[in-house]
Amino acid sequence: MKSVRTRFAPSPTGFLHIGGARTALFSWAFARHHGGDFILRIEDTDVARSMLAAVQVILDGMAWLDLAHDEGPFYQMQRMDRYKAVIRQMLADGAAYHCYTSKEELEALRAEQEARHEKPRYDGRWRPEAGKTLPPIPPGAPPVVRFKNPRDGIVAWDDRVKGRIEFANAELDDLIIARADGTPTYNFCVVVDDWDMGISHVIRGDDHVNNTPRQINILKALGAEIPTYAHLSMILGDDGTKLSKRHGAVSVMQYDEDGFLPEAVINYLARLGWSHGDDELFSREQLVAWFDLDHITASAAQFNTEKLLWLNQHYMKALPPADLAARVESRLAARGVVTANGPDLARAAALYVDRCNTLKALADALEGFYVGSAAAPELLAQHLSADALPALADFVAGLADVAWETPAIAALIKETLAKHNLKMPKLAMPLRVILTGQAQAPSVDALVAMMGRERAISLLKKHL
Ligand code: GLU
Repeated sequence: MKSVRTRFAPSPTGFLHIGGARTALFSWAFARHHGGDFILRIEDTDVARSMLAAVQVILDGMAWLDLAHDEGPFYQMQRMDRYKAVIRQMLADGAAYHCYTSKEELEALRAEQEARHEKPRYDGRWRPEAGKTLPPIPPGAPPVVRFKNPRDGIVAWDDRVKGRIEFANAELDDLIIARADGTPTYNFCVVVDDWDMGISHVIRGDDHVNNTPRQINILKALGAEIPTYAHLSMILGDDGTKLSKRHGAVSVMQYDEDGFLPEAVINYLARLGWSHGDDELFSREQLVAWFDLDHITASAAQFNTEKLLWLNQHYMKALPPADLAARVESRLAARGVVTANGPDLARAAALYVDRCNTLKALADALEGFYVGSAAAPELLAQHLSADALPALADFVAGLADVAWETPAIAALIKETLAKHNLKMPKLAMPLRVILTGQAQAPSVDALVAMMGRERAISLLKKHL
């Protein structure tokens, strides 16, 4: 098999959104699976809408997802000379021609066609044909360049996702490949790039299906090999409508902001339209080992936020505690929260990860330990009753010399409850409220252990 070369070719007109990230992932995984090359190409010819900042956002998103490219980034704006050279060659070969039809003439043509209930299309008036006399060249009006699309037959390809797709050539206009000012047009740049970059597999969104027949015809005219195409079906939002900004986090970096791990997002995106049996959880290495085009579904994939959250928590729990702590720490630091003078962050994170499905939620849950937020008086009043005070005092005294580990602290709690003939919540609830400022907290023995001896004793003593 010819070596696999795939590309991701975003237009920097916004950020790297979830759909784009999935296209990038599939292209990357397919190249990696075959030991091929993954190329990054920035399609920035739409100058007005392309922004430098948007390029950086795409690069940041790719870096965050750790989708490293082997070649590029190539910028189309830097390849203008090459496109123009190919256009000159096509003109010389008769594969393209100058067209002087003015805007007014095109509008008149369109109006006539619409009046006849025909599809508006260029009528080929400047297309050179054997024995045809072309109109006289109007003075002072620079021409556009049109591609001489075949008139008859069909253009077809076996799409690796959608199956065989055919277009009748008669349906395709002679596409403008260079504007009057000489700048090449979108479909043409894509063709030259895919050709020059030796792209073997074009994996992209199915919003490009209508461009493919035009691109194939131009590739054929250039004598280029036709890549294999795989057009990915769109992604629907949780509610079954087209994924849009309404669905909240559309930029990949927003997921970072919201506390998702790139590992989880990668795993999640891989399953958006591709499957490996019933496997839901897999590593990056497994994805690379398993990824193929045969198991991409032709139907639209539906986004499922609950599932993403579940995966995210799974990956958070799977992190070594020190790694989880480091990721939460940078979030807390960004909020100006210093963790040096509070409970050990790795222990605290390990204890709270069961109740938090994002890093953001985990940082929210832990922040209070480091900013010393005190329990609201009404919460204390509700949970710390007068009859529990002697038990609390005994417990605090016992903390001074108990072995500092969860089972020993659990035993001390039991002992204290028995001695005072109290039920668990009588002591556990005030402990939770005093130590965390909240009534909802993890198991109280582990919580006391996590706080550390001195800190636990001093916090509790304030309420005796
Ligand atoms: N630049 C196009 C886009 O962002 C992709 C072109 C392609 O993959 O062929 O939608």
